[in-house]
Amino acid sequence: MLVSFSMNAKIAKKCLNQNKVTVAFIAVTEPMRVHLFRKAVKAIVVSIFAKYIMLEQKLEDKNIKPTAMRLLVLKQLVENAAAISLKDLEAKFEKADTATLYRTLKTFEQKRLIHSIEDGTGSLKYALCEEGCECAPQDQHIHFHCVECGETYCLTKSKIPQTQIPSGFKASSASMVYKGTCANCN
Ligand SMILES: [Zn+2]
Ligand SMILES: [Zn+2]
Ligand SMILES: [Zn+2]
Repeated sequence: MLVSFSMNAKIAKKCLNQNKVTVAFIAVTEPMRVHLFRKAVKAIVVSIFAKYIMLEQKLEDKNIKPTAMRLLVLKQLVENAAAISLKDLEAKFEKADTATLYRTLKTFEQKRLIHSIEDGTGSLKYALCEEGCECAPQDQHIHFHCVECGETYCLTKSKIPQTQIPSGFKASSASMVYKGTCANCN
């Protein structure tokens, strides 16, 4: 596919400057010069490779064996700005069965690569943890649920305030969800 199209030189140059893989999918009109095309292909390959290595590293850092399915699920989680439910994930994978996707999410959760969020909608959502997150109550941040579009976002900079737990009680997790409308819906 990469070699069968020509593209607008100006757009290609812009994409190269931004190091965007999307350069491969741009609608094409004018043929571009050969050297620029070679440069574009190289940038695409390097960019895809770098992304793959980054995903693999993320799994290995958490002692998760990087299988093809795990890499694909992680890619979705990385690319999604909002938290994702099992149902959302299923919609992105036509051929994977629910049980496999569920198991993948649970493995990620157990290894503290992702955390689950109860946003009051009844279906659990999942989002990537920050670097070094142990998913302990003091690590946990506030979430924002948009009542218009239904998306739930991590407010990673806003930690859940610490509170006095009565003696004899032991907290294992904490959750706080703000509701309202997100920037896209306002
Ligand atoms: Zn976490
Ligand atoms: Zn919204
Ligand atoms: Zn979160």
